[in-house]
Amino acid sequence: MRANLSSLLASLLVSLGAAACGGAVEVDAPLEPAPASDAGADAAATPDAPEVPYPAPHPGMPEIPNNGGKVLTAPLIVTVTYAGDGLESFAQQLDDWIGGSAWWKTVHADYGVGAATSGGHVVIADPAPDALTDTDLQRWIAAKIDDGTFAQPTDQTLLVIWLPPQTSITLPGAGGRSCASFGGYHSAAAYRVEGKLRQVSYAVIPRCSGRDSLPVTVSHELTEAATDPLPGTLLAGSSGWVLNDQSPWNPAGGENADMCEFVSPVTENGYSLTRVWSNANAKIGQQPCIPVPPETAAIPYFNAAITDEILIAKPGDTVSTQLVCYSFGPLAGPLTVSAQTWSQGTLTFSFDPPTCTNGTNVTMTIQVGASATSGTDYHYSLLTQLDANTGHLWRGMVAVP
Ligand SMILES: [Zn+2]
Repeated sequence: MRANLSSLLASLLVSLGAAACGGAVEVDAPLEPAPASDAGADAAATPDAPEVPYPAPHPGMPEIPNNGGKVLTAPLIVTVTYAGDGLESFAQQLDDWIGGSAWWKTVHADYGVGAATSGGHVVIADPAPDALTDTDLQRWIAAKIDDGTFAQPTDQTLLVIWLPPQTSITLPGAGGRSCASFGGYHSAAAYRVEGKLRQVSYAVIPRCSGRDSLPVTVSHELTEAATDPLPGTLLAGSSGWVLNDQSPWNPAGGENADMCEFVSPVTENGYSLTRVWSNANAKIGQQPCIPVPPETAAIPYFNAAITDEILIAKPGDTVSTQLVCYSFGPLAGPLTVSAQTWSQGTLTFSFDPPTCTNGTNVTMTIQVGASATSGTDYHYSLLTQLDANTGHLWRGMVAVP
């Protein structure tokens, strides 16, 4: 009954913001719209060159598999707060609204999750503890089901537990403490009905930020709880939609919001909400993190695909791979590629040539420092920019066996 550590890490990153991640920022909000017409911008369109289609042939991005576990097809969201919490009505309104939002419908199109509705509000009269563990919380949930504080869960119930500002929660193992190691998480708790063991999904929302930043965490945990409601819990094979493979795309976790961890959020109804991985878009190499903000949608999506996303190297090696540049329509200018990494001292990148257009390639060479450590996957993001404000990411890594 371990909590989903991937989700924890992701939530930590949410709470700390992109600045904590070595500057891996996706700039998806251009300040200036692309010109309506940019004839001649495609360098490949010389008189003798064959016409390159939009988009030029290119690799896709990974799809998140369903591992056979259930999803919440019609989630019932129960808001749990403690009496006296200044955000009680904010929490209830957000939880009641989110399951019928355009955001919810858009992000769940690939995952078999239907609209969510309110399963009611529970305000806990007992004072909140200053500190508790996730194990304490799971026992508390079971006790509150037993004593009738929580209605008997259905297989669609999702408890959203809003901890008040003074309460911190600790996860087992290396999970750490709320607001230090993670900003939110979801898991499942066991309880018994007439001697039979059942599980109920829950999400925990510690008060790690001000009100305006909480919806990013709430939307992150709720979409993951709906698509992977029994993460790594009592039942083998209970896992839902999650990319568990060694992949450059899931360093923040392989659930659907984790995969868009570094991408700027979107706004609906005044709430800032996480973007979520779209398998349909990923398959064709379109913007994988949806919803796509309207100001970005006006510019054809572009990127540079890394041919060998996982390169194997020894310390001191130099390795290279091809980047395949593509766009879904004409762009105002060439694309510039660069790399961002948390391992600045270990990986050194060079690009030949430094720019590209739809249908042209770049050779990316990575020098692996002699100080690289055996048994480490060094992750990086490839940033492909149209201008300073418009860019998209691809993920890669150098595995040092
Ligand atoms: Zn997550």
